[in-house]
Amino acid sequence: MSGALRVFADYRGDSVEEADVVVVGSGPGGGVAAKELAESGHSVVLLEEGPPLTPDDFELDSAISMARTMRESGLRTTLGTVMPTMQAICLGGGSVVNSAICVRTPEFVLDEWCERYGLRHTTRADLDPHYDAVGEFLGIAPTPEAVLGRRNTLFREGCDALGYASEPIQRNVRGCRGSGECFTGCRARAKQSVDITYVPAALRAGARVLTSARVEQVIVAGRRAVGVRGRFVTPFTGRVTASFEVRARAVVLAAGCMATPVLLQKSGDLANRSRQVGENLRFHPGVAITAFFDDEVDPSFGATQGYQSFQFLREGYKLETLWAPPAVLAVRMPGSGHALKNRLARLPRSVVWDAIGSCNRSVGTVRSRRWGDSPRLSWRLHRSEVSILSRALYTLTEIAFAAGARGVMAGVQGVPEEIHSLDAAQVLRNKDFNSGDFGTGGNHAFCTTRMHGDPARGVVDEFGRCHDVENLYIADTGVFPRCPSVNPMWTGMALAHRTAASVSDAL
Ligand SMILES: Cc1cc2nc3c(=O)[nH]c(=O)nc-3n(C[C@H](O)[C@H](O)[C@H](O)COP(=O)(O)OP(=O)(O)OC[C@H]3O[C@@H](n4cnc5c(N)ncnc54)[C@H](O)[C@@H]3O)c2cc1C
Ligand code: SF4
Repeated sequence: MSGALRVFADYRGDSVEEADVVVVGSGPGGGVAAKELAESGHSVVLLEEGPPLTPDDFELDSAISMARTMRESGLRTTLGTVMPTMQAICLGGGSVVNSAICVRTPEFVLDEWCERYGLRHTTRADLDPHYDAVGEFLGIAPTPEAVLGRRNTLFREGCDALGYASEPIQRNVRGCRGSGECFTGCRARAKQSVDITYVPAALRAGARVLTSARVEQVIVAGRRAVGVRGRFVTPFTGRVTASFEVRARAVVLAAGCMATPVLLQKSGDLANRSRQVGENLRFHPGVAITAFFDDEVDPSFGATQGYQSFQFLREGYKLETLWAPPAVLAVRMPGSGHALKNRLARLPRSVVWDAIGSCNRSVGTVRSRRWGDSPRLSWRLHRSEVSILSRALYTLTEIAFAAGARGVMAGVQGVPEEIHSLDAAQVLRNKDFNSGDFGTGGNHAFCTTRMHGDPARGVVDEFGRCHDVENLYIADTGVFPRCPSVNPMWTGMALAHRTAASVSDAL
């Protein structure tokens, strides 16, 4: 039995569908849930607001690319501490534009989740079978030497010189050519994003996949979820057209941690007896350095993010290599006119490395707006966690000098634009910075519909079941109770894999 993928041009007016399960959102969480449920023999409708994209749609020009693939053209930011945060809008969600980094949440972090949030089945041993299932399906493996490139191997050399542990990043790719363009979409189709893996598998198992379908409300009857309704939207413009309704025995929300709470809020403040819907918004705020070397590095060659270090995870930060289109990198560079032009001219001799902070005390909220679909995001970098970012920048700078860099730009207010020695970098360790001093970005977001063993303190249980509404499940990173401290996708998928089993058992 094979299902059907429908695109905007297929819609001929209002429509009503019936299914055992309707899944909202085709990102890593929704994709896994749809495939697993369809393969368990249930009829599944998967709804995605964005369109499917092919390599022809992937533009190296970052402005065009972001306008096509990201909500608010990639310019979404938080209020409070102003921080850019990107969410994709396309079949496959964030997996299409991300760097394919796959990391299992460490045991000590999951133990903390269990202890603080009344969870009894979310240890690493509990989740490993689910990580394994996803990892096997996607072919997750360490980045091979042949596609690392100097940008990644210089990081390793710097870490080795300092005695810091580092390793090639595990990624969901097959046949990566090291083109460094994961952010604008993999034209080689090497990245095993959900649109080319889980969605086709769901289709093969009979799922119906409706793209350009924006869900606006969860339908409830008494205390039970019985479906969703919404409208078809034109790709890229979001102009609304005909209506649809999907009636189902179970509803799985996987619209992402910034859209699922909005859906619940717009559905009459649904599933919110705990008052936790849209609360607890957490990020891994990211900071980065650009380091300049004497010799050519050719940073555009190499897996976009191919090397990492967990050495400082318990101190609150993880280190990674990074690459992005030059126009995106230029935004982070100080200066203008000739000064900026000269810096950009040195890009072929430079590397960009980043750190993500595990900032659990820095929290915010997601709220629906009366008009429009974009949520209002508030978030504040907590005073006590500012030093996580400055220390991370110091460590990256230290690694860069150990690898032979001549100069480093840390992009922090109150620090010289370019640092030329480790002595000069001490300011990063010693100065008392403010949250607004950093150029941060937060693409890892979670916790807005958190799991908690106590229904009074969380939206779902650890199997993704909403505490207050029968037949309603959540399968995106909103269910994390706390920062995973590492890249979130694989954990989101492992949890969605487990949630799919709980949905299936209940049907
Ligand atoms: C640039 C970038 C790089 C990243 N790199 C990595 C990385 O390398 N490794 C890693 O682990 N993580 C990475 N992340 C984070 C990771 O991609 C996300 O954590 C992950 O995609 C979250 O999955 P999700 O299913 O929860 O939500 P999403 O991926 O956001 O998927 C939600 C889907 O639901 C759809 N949707 C939303 N609202 C509606 C609605 N009302 N109706 C219908 N559909 C709707 C959206 O369009 C979207 O497709 C990165 C993120 C970004 C933006
Ligand atoms: S580095 Fe290039 S080839 Fe490899 S997965 Fe990313 S975009 Fe695809």
